[in-house]
Amino acid sequence: MLAILQRIIQEVSQARDIEQALAIIVGRVKEAVQVDVCSAYLVNQQQQRYVLMASDGLNPRAVGRAGLAFGEGLVSLVAERAEPVNLDYAPDHPRFHFLLDTGEQEFNAFLGVPIIHHRKVLGVLVLQQRARRRFEEDETAFLLTVAAQLAGAIAHAEVSGGIDRLVTGINGGVSLKGLPGSPGVGIGTGLVVYPPADLDAVPDRQVEDIDAELEVFEDAVNLAKADIRGLQARLSVALSEDDQVLFDAYLQMLSSASLTDQVKTRIGEGSWASGALRATINEHVQMFKAMEDPYMRERAEDIKDLGRRILRFIQKGRHKPPPYPEKTILVGDEITATMLAEAPIDRLVGVISAKGSSSSHVAILARALGIPAVVGLKDLPVARMEGQSLITDGYNGRVYVSPSASIRNEYVHLAREETQMTTELAELRDVPAQTPDGFRIPLYANSGLLSDISPSLLSGAEGIGLYRTEFPFMVRDRFPTEDEQVGIYRQVIEAFANKPVVLRTLDIGGDKSLPYFPIQEDNPFLGWRGIRVTLDHPELFLAQIRAMMRASIGHDTLSILLPMITNISELDEALALIEQGYKELLEDGEQLVKPQFGVMIEVPSLIYQIGAVAKRVDFVSVGTNDLTQYLLAVDRNNGSVAELYDSLSPAVIMAIKQVVEGAALHGCTVSVCGEMAGNPRAALLLLAMGVDSLSMSASSLLRVKWVIRRVSRSRAQQLLEDVLKMETAAEISQYLGHALVEGGMGGLIRAGYN
Ligand code: PEP
Ligand code: MG
Repeated sequence: MLAILQRIIQEVSQARDIEQALAIIVGRVKEAVQVDVCSAYLVNQQQQRYVLMASDGLNPRAVGRAGLAFGEGLVSLVAERAEPVNLDYAPDHPRFHFLLDTGEQEFNAFLGVPIIHHRKVLGVLVLQQRARRRFEEDETAFLLTVAAQLAGAIAHAEVSGGIDRLVTGINGGVSLKGLPGSPGVGIGTGLVVYPPADLDAVPDRQVEDIDAELEVFEDAVNLAKADIRGLQARLSVALSEDDQVLFDAYLQMLSSASLTDQVKTRIGEGSWASGALRATINEHVQMFKAMEDPYMRERAEDIKDLGRRILRFIQKGRHKPPPYPEKTILVGDEITATMLAEAPIDRLVGVISAKGSSSSHVAILARALGIPAVVGLKDLPVARMEGQSLITDGYNGRVYVSPSASIRNEYVHLAREETQMTTELAELRDVPAQTPDGFRIPLYANSGLLSDISPSLLSGAEGIGLYRTEFPFMVRDRFPTEDEQVGIYRQVIEAFANKPVVLRTLDIGGDKSLPYFPIQEDNPFLGWRGIRVTLDHPELFLAQIRAMMRASIGHDTLSILLPMITNISELDEALALIEQGYKELLEDGEQLVKPQFGVMIEVPSLIYQIGAVAKRVDFVSVGTNDLTQYLLAVDRNNGSVAELYDSLSPAVIMAIKQVVEGAALHGCTVSVCGEMAGNPRAALLLLAMGVDSLSMSASSLLRVKWVIRRVSRSRAQQLLEDVLKMETAAEISQYLGHALVEGGMGGLIRAGYN
């Protein structure tokens, strides 16, 4: 059964559209279970019914036409119950509804299972048999497995098909739901970015100059041939003749007309070489995988390898990447910091990433740059997004593909309002963050994910509350030297002369890895990360600490922050090393003022030991991104569980409150530097709790300042008091949202002004 299932999944993943995907499923399932009928019904929300979308066994003319209204028939019953219905004689069931024109009157036994994707019933898969019989347990289990496994592919094919129909002008726009990554509205044209030499990541792209494209392809094939011949020659001594056959097979495939001609035909139809290659290779892989002979099935991997080799040469030969459209919306399966950094910032109006959640680093980076972003769009057909007209609604996590004129106009209007709001907010740049009843709270910027610190300066930040030092480490091909680090840190400290700057020691591991120091782990967020790495490498830690302190000579504004501390022994060890570095510098004759030291509170264990921490350091900084992840056991980068990740969860709020109270007993100040600090709803609660400062993405700063200047501290305290009685994040979020709307600040939580 497993082999059959894998084959179906493989075939479905290659399907052109939803119709083809379903046709494959019903055909293969009918064959595997040996029944008379297998059909698939899909929900059509507009028509409020389940439409027969594919059938092997019923009248083919009924496909696409016949259907059952919601609440009608056994298909609806399966969907309502969200569980299988297994009947040996269906016509006797009170919910049985005979479907005209399908020819189903001949069939008596019925088994229906729901197709569910992320809690949503997408449709129902049905088996029918002439003979009266109850379907076996293992048949039900098989059908359930097929439905569960394929639900994602069906959702994906549905979206892709919708987009294809758009291209042919049949449809009126497709809207996709993801997660809010960075607030704002972006209207522009899709540009797909993808990692090199990854065949599956290649997007569809149309070209005008077909001859040039053919030349690119032919050159790449010739280079691949030469490369393989070279490999063959080099390995001829080491490899047996049998093993060398593989190279001959590769060369034969490269010379075979069936492969290259198909690519050329696709290029002739206007596709670029990489896209034509991807489609052709996938078709061949498919063909081989479907073969009964295991040896031939294995050959599918060789074809794939060959495809990757040709692709590498195509990509090498293509010196110029496609131009970034005037208003670019960057689309990718997983947008990385480097992809963002490579894009011209003045053309970038939006970011869409199929992977990630609102607290992954792509989202943090987009917020730092003030670019609207939607992330975690699991069913996004990335390859088809190139050149599409797109709208990114970073408030609601929605993307519109080829939107209708009315949706477009609405968003143009909202975007205009936003620009106006941004202009008005800019006037707050130099005024203090002070509540109407006179309570002042410094607002700092988070920086360091990009080397550029100007957005923080422009936002009027009163200092840097968190400088992530990972980025300068990431963009090199080795660890930066102590002197190089002094240069980097000094730039930041000097740019913010006379203002506090908090430099955090290296926090690699988790989702941040260095190309020259890979860490491979099954559970990276629970593994060798942050201080754990640097304590194991005191030479790295000491060089960084010394560099930070040397950079601050002449400016007494430095604080040093330690990430991922989970227990007091780690803290003591780190402080001892810092003391050692400090003394070494004094011995070297440096004129040093000792910096302030702080600890990130981002692991729940420290909430319960806050007294012991606070006794040892000058300040703590709550990293709500990780604290939420660890407290709620939700991977901050995993879109599948992103709905469970919520910093407004009562547990997170109570944890921070406990930290503030515990630290105060020891005169230790508390900052919040996770993304929660930049959330206008949450900022009110943090202010009310008595947090001493907030540090956030530069793009959130003026919005938060606006709220602080409009809501009195006593009102915020009243809101906190109410919130502390609430039991769910949704209730809290809604309540605070209302408070903002009532106070005339609705524009902070949704597109537009009010
Ligand atoms: C945090 O965890 O909240 C934090 C600020 O650090 P990072 O996002 O870099 O993990
Ligand atoms: Mg963190």
